[in-house]
Amino acid sequence: MIDFSIAPKTLKALQLQRENNKFVRSIARYYDENEHTDARPEDQEQLKKNAAAMLKVLGGPEPGEGQFLTNIMLGEIRSMGDPVTAGMIATQGLGNAAIRAVATPEQRERFDKLYCSMAITEPGFGSDTSAVATTAKLDPATNEWILNGEKIFVTSGKRCDAIVAWATLDKSKGRAAIKSFIVEKDRPGCTLTKLEHKLGIRASDTASIVFEDCRIPYDNILGSPEIKEAKTGQVGVLATFDATRPGVASQGIGVGRAALEFTKEKLEELGYTFPYDKGIHSLSAVQKEILNMEANLDAARYLVWQSASMLDKAQRNSLESSMGKAKAGRVIGDVCQKCVAILGPLGYSRDWLVEKWMRDCKINDIYEGTGQIQMLVVCRQVLGFKRDQLK
Ligand SMILES: Cc1cc2nc3c(=O)[nH]c(=O)nc-3n(C[C@H](O)[C@H](O)[C@H](O)COP(=O)(O)OP(=O)(O)OC[C@H]3O[C@@H](n4cnc5c(N)ncnc54)[C@H](O)[C@@H]3O)c2cc1C
Repeated sequence: MIDFSIAPKTLKALQLQRENNKFVRSIARYYDENEHTDARPEDQEQLKKNAAAMLKVLGGPEPGEGQFLTNIMLGEIRSMGDPVTAGMIATQGLGNAAIRAVATPEQRERFDKLYCSMAITEPGFGSDTSAVATTAKLDPATNEWILNGEKIFVTSGKRCDAIVAWATLDKSKGRAAIKSFIVEKDRPGCTLTKLEHKLGIRASDTASIVFEDCRIPYDNILGSPEIKEAKTGQVGVLATFDATRPGVASQGIGVGRAALEFTKEKLEELGYTFPYDKGIHSLSAVQKEILNMEANLDAARYLVWQSASMLDKAQRNSLESSMGKAKAGRVIGDVCQKCVAILGPLGYSRDWLVEKWMRDCKINDIYEGTGQIQMLVVCRQVLGFKRDQLK
């Protein structure tokens, strides 16, 4: 049975997050218009205060029962303030989720205090993760890995302390030889070469990183260095997506919810009501649109919550996490565009944040696997096709 009961402590944290959102919204436009600016000292201070208050309510960052689901619920509400601005002082990135999913206890101890980003994409591929061309070779003389290659579109590549990078031990062995490695940014041979200018989530930096004979200790490999059979080898690295996709989906749902709640408020100011107990024939077109959007957001949310609660129970959730992300990606794009349309020219204006949310939300249907790739994963699993039978 699925149980989404929310602990009183989490409820308190969700309420506090809504309070914290007021400040984040007040600074969101500044960082949207000033891409690649570091957080202003006064903003940093307030964001840190907010984060400290949240930590107090949650009682510390120790992983415990329901940790994934709690994080997902909080992530959605945080994203309603802004999907990335609070992340300017973040201490945990997508790479940390990957570490938590597959690292040994010793590695967790070593790396979880670092802010880790995730570097999979390269100039030669995005969706087809089997095409990793960055290489990792073991130097038997020093027992170090030597990494060579280029990673692009690394979220928080500038701000992070370390990068979880996918690299191949032997390109001829295909997926099985792809492993993830933790590269601390200050290692010689690890260079940030470019920062992207983007459509949305402009408070989040997106970087290119080059590894040139970059040496890291042997123990910086996540999982086993053994190259297992081709069909199972990449499970280790792919498993990280199961942990990160629910977070990305809930971030998007938060943006969609922000746009929808804001639009409802503006319509309510004009006298509209949104009754749940009236027949569809008695509702206006706008009322129907709003209620449909709400129902779709709820559907996406519950799919994502299901995938997160499965993680908490250590159940395999690849299917559910892809279903949630595919549904969320579609719904939020639709919701944000419709909200801009319903609000008319003011929806398109920079006076409000709705146009920004419309730009921001697109990314949730791109990173950690596009909507089309999620549908492929879902179809393969539901229909029982192997990767090479449906691509
Ligand atoms: C702002 C931003 C931040 C990012 N952050 C990160 C990050 O932190 N780490 C990281 O590693 N990457 C990151 N990425 C990269 C992102 O994960 C890739 O852009 C994404 O995986 C898609 O890859 P691609 O852009 O090469 O598109 P392609 O793979 O070239 O795909 C292009 C289009 O074709 C579709 N398509 C591809 N294959 C199929 C198929 N088999 N069937 C149907 N349709 C298909 C795709 O859905 C897409 O619409 C980021 C990207 C952006 C824009």
